[in-house]
Amino acid sequence: MRYIWDSFEKFLFADVKNEKETKDLAILIRLNCIVFSLYFFFMGLLIAYMQHYTLGLAMAGAVGLTVGAFIFTYENRTFPGLILLNSVLIVFPVLLALFTGFQCGYQYILFINILLMYFNKTGNPLYKRIYSMVLMGIILLLVELCPELPLFTTPLGSYLIYVQSFNVIVMGASFLVTAYCYSTKFNQAEEKLRRINENLERMANLDTLTGLSNRRHMNEYLSDIVYEYNHTGHTFTIAIGDIDFFKKVNDTYGHDTGDYVLTSAADIFKAFMKNKGHVARWGGEEFLFAFENMKAEQAFKELDELRKQIENTPMQFKDYDFKITMTYGLEEFNPRLGIEATINHADKKLYEGKTGGRNRVVM
Ligand code: GH3
Ligand code: MG
Ligand code: MG
Repeated sequence: MRYIWDSFEKFLFADVKNEKETKDLAILIRLNCIVFSLYFFFMGLLIAYMQHYTLGLAMAGAVGLTVGAFIFTYENRTFPGLILLNSVLIVFPVLLALFTGFQCGYQYILFINILLMYFNKTGNPLYKRIYSMVLMGIILLLVELCPELPLFTTPLGSYLIYVQSFNVIVMGASFLVTAYCYSTKFNQAEEKLRRINENLERMANLDTLTGLSNRRHMNEYLSDIVYEYNHTGHTFTIAIGDIDFFKKVNDTYGHDTGDYVLTSAADIFKAFMKNKGHVARWGGEEFLFAFENMKAEQAFKELDELRKQIENTPMQFKDYDFKITMTYGLEEFNPRLGIEATINHADKKLYEGKTGGRNRVVM
């Protein structure tokens, strides 16, 4: 049973072959075709039972055309399928209303055509509006005409209530499957937009090589912690770290080895800074660290640990085996100077560290 249902589902939700056509429109047409082929089939049986054989035969034609529209969606003809289904859902309800009077409510099936037509992304919006108005005109005309013109000699009589209920149920089913298709389409569009936004945000904030925050994102982060400092007094310390003789790494082992060193160092920084603050790639082989809720002395101890860790981490790439060191300049946030000057001070100390022999933290 489960297998049969799965196969049916796969068949029903199969993608369209033509790249220019949309799958969701095909599914909408298929679901409505199923609802209305069943509808015309049972309506035909009822009408034949009431001995109106010609109209009963016309219902058989309606079933055939609806099945035709269903098949079209598998044959690269989704749009002709849509037109065919629309035509069927105009001609036959009108025919039924003309013969049995408007009290049965057949004519309201025409409204479904508006939903079907608007689901199709392409097409001139003006034509869609005109089409909707024409449909409403036909309905109004039928409501006005049909009390005068029930062409059936024998009225529906006691069957009226069953036919009315059947019509309501079928229209309900059609609205349900159509609403389902609309909501799926909206959800998919929303989900797609969300993913695009997420990607854009990542691209705008992250450095592509190392995956660390870029300078832009770090500046945003720094403004946040400055704001927090102004409101809560929580101080923080920043540091700039620079790889020693990095040019030599590139020159000796190649640029790709240099890239490998940057990524490996970035991974170490990320793990190290967890729960301590934030780190970003500030420039080529320079990184900016922000230690939250930390005074300079404590940050110095932390950073010296990081310095030792980097010094002791073997770098292995291709056939090369080597180690690197880094120099750091550290400065506690000074509200009188502001963040930019604080960074400049850290930069000056980094320079002192470089001239003083490298592989050290200068406070
Ligand atoms: P110092 O110890 O004084 O910092 O010396 P250094 O060689 O590290 O400094 P210098 O500023 O002379 O060289 C930095 C080098 O970093 C030059 C540049 O080609 C390299 N670099 C910058 N960005 C990248 C990158 O994304 N990948 C690679 N492989 N190299 C980079
Ligand atoms: Mg350097
Ligand atoms: Mg540098």
